Amino acid sequence: MSAVVAVFAPLDKPLSYEVPAALREQVAPGVRVRVPLGNRRALGVILELASAGVEGLRPVEEVLDLQPLLSSPMLAFLRRAAAYYHHPLGEVLRAALPAGLTAVKTRVNIVTERFYRAACAVQDPPGARQREILAWLRGREEVPLSEISRHFPAPHAVLKRLVELNLLSVREGERRRDPFLDQPVPVDVRPVLGVDQQQALAALLDALAAGRFAQFLLHGVTGSGKTEIYLHAIAAVLEQGRQALVLVPEIALTPQLVARFRTRFQAACARVAVLHSALSEGERYDAWRAIARGEVQIVIGARSAVFAPLPDLGIVVVDEEHESGYKQSEGWRYHARDLALLRAQGSAAVVVLGSATPALTTFYRTQAGDTGYLSLDARVLGRPLPEVELVDLGGRRLSGALAPELMEALSATLERKEQALLLLNRRGFAPYLLCRECGATFRCPNCEITLTYYQSRRRLRCHYCDYVQRPPERCSGCGGTSIEPEGAGTERLEEELAVAFPVARIARMDRDTTSRKGAHQSLVDGMEQGAIDILIGTQMVAKGHDFPRVTLVGVIGADSSLNFPDFRSAERTFALLTQVAGRAGRGTLQGRVLIQTYAPTHHALACAARHDYLGFYEQEIAFRRELGYPPFGYLINLVLAGNQPLQVERCAAELAEELSRKAGEVEILGPAPCPLARLRGKTRYQILLKAAARAPLHRLLGVVDSRRRKLPRTLSLAVDVDPLDM
Ligand code: ADP
Ligand code: ZN
Repeated sequence: MSAVVAVFAPLDKPLSYEVPAALREQVAPGVRVRVPLGNRRALGVILELASAGVEGLRPVEEVLDLQPLLSSPMLAFLRRAAAYYHHPLGEVLRAALPAGLTAVKTRVNIVTERFYRAACAVQDPPGARQREILAWLRGREEVPLSEISRHFPAPHAVLKRLVELNLLSVREGERRRDPFLDQPVPVDVRPVLGVDQQQALAALLDALAAGRFAQFLLHGVTGSGKTEIYLHAIAAVLEQGRQALVLVPEIALTPQLVARFRTRFQAACARVAVLHSALSEGERYDAWRAIARGEVQIVIGARSAVFAPLPDLGIVVVDEEHESGYKQSEGWRYHARDLALLRAQGSAAVVVLGSATPALTTFYRTQAGDTGYLSLDARVLGRPLPEVELVDLGGRRLSGALAPELMEALSATLERKEQALLLLNRRGFAPYLLCRECGATFRCPNCEITLTYYQSRRRLRCHYCDYVQRPPERCSGCGGTSIEPEGAGTERLEEELAVAFPVARIARMDRDTTSRKGAHQSLVDGMEQGAIDILIGTQMVAKGHDFPRVTLVGVIGADSSLNFPDFRSAERTFALLTQVAGRAGRGTLQGRVLIQTYAPTHHALACAARHDYLGFYEQEIAFRRELGYPPFGYLINLVLAGNQPLQVERCAAELAEELSRKAGEVEILGPAPCPLARLRGKTRYQILLKAAARAPLHRLLGVVDSRRRKLPRTLSLAVDVDPLDM
């Protein structure tokens, strides 16, 4: 007997191994095995078994799972994914499995404690304290004893009694710090759906009842009640006895959404698992196993949750489907939204792509008719969209980062005791230091980029590789000493505002201030409780939050993202502006948005100001059609990287030449240095392949594969199918 094994290694093909007689009972497709690979050991997953033996195969050494870890639909899905992305299957499987399951290594020491979970029962216990603790636990998933003790002193006796009454279940598990356990539990409001919400929901329910694959775009402005529709559709899926998967761009930034799901489905006794980065390896594995056994009805997570092994997946929600966070930027460069579609096809599931600013490619598919189009044109309860004004900075010199118009609007907002949100998509104090005498800037020694200046810590830092140095006293070029920060980041903006509004309570939300655990949450709490008057931040402030008392949104440097050398820069700018504008006036108060710009007539700005997605789409799609960019053409980007610049350049040239000879209808662009031509000490070149159809592109990748085998070891070659950054 022999087994075909996808080994967790960057190999072109699965390998065949002999199955020794002693292991025959244990092998099956989908189980992990340990096998010899060269002169080392590796793990892999059995894809197929063949009864006929083959001479000269090396043997499988050990079978690691009692039951298949990957079901056959999951295996089929991952094989299709590997083919689509032209990525080694073993590496694809490795990415899809919890980390602890793919490495040959020993386990770490685990500290355990007791976890309590409210049982799914309606009756209440007799004691007041018992009722109090139980009510608290009912709003949560599973809570460790240490956490309960923080809220209720000496709870042991009460917990013991509740377990005896079968109102709580208890298990011993690995100790953890789960940021989602601290969530205040919101009250479950179940609004009566508006007419267009009902229509959208009806379409989803029809598709679910049909039990076939179907995909929909739910296009609704911010605050139009999309989440409410997800909740209703998922309820229907649970009724069918199937499960739901909810993908969000960044799980750490969506505690409010998670809390809403938990509360809503508490009553239905559905188990909601949240896959987030704070889970330990062991917890991830436990969650994964519980999901595979069908014990979890709803999984919420970021892009890698698309691999959650729900056995009978009925619906996949991809919230904010346009977000670039769904694209994996290293290793296997998959896009979770596209994988969600692929997966749903194999599971006869319904996919709902939700967004206020759908990706152009997604909206185009609705025009072509392959994707159902559901739209919510207005905010719930007739709340108006905020008024957006463009503040034209052309020909003006500002004394600081803020125009007087924005300053005035801020004072008025503070006077009314309402809240303001300011977007400046750049961290640090200033994007660079400049020598006033010779014009030199200070760059990262490893990356092709200026070092960001942090005034508070007196440091220069690289945002790509984290290289840090002290700011120089003198310019290394001319020896001059007038070295000054140029431009403004969030840190500088905070300082400027503190001077202008000395009594205002100002806070900053960016990657620097939220890296500590719980820091993001405390900013959200501060906003909700009215302890912050002005929240400054990077694009993080634009994401998902629902702060009803924010009535002013200001955008500083809206154009900076327009100047990226990328055909999607307008689309990104439009989406970000629309998203952040959507944070204003979500409650009962009217919102106002001021956008400072040098390009007020650019369609990304003009259309965002009018809340005009369609207008933007029309202009942008015409431009894409003309240039043959997606959705009218397909792209694959090849990225060569290595330590020796000349070698990288030469290999890129040779590869491009070979590709050109066999190109057929594929257009070969480059080789050219990547937009980030040096990153973490490596020189990077890219070759962009472009064609009107996918098939010729994939055919051409055969050339890349045979090349890859001949590349010097010091070079890496990445294949990025449907690239987002290039
Ligand atoms: P979106 O996901 O489109 O931003 P949400 O579903 O979060 O919108 O809805 C925004 C707010 O409006 C939420 O607080 C939600 O509870 C509320 N809401 C949703 N639908 C309705 C409705 N039909 N009537 C009243 N309130 C609603
Ligand atoms: Zn760097």
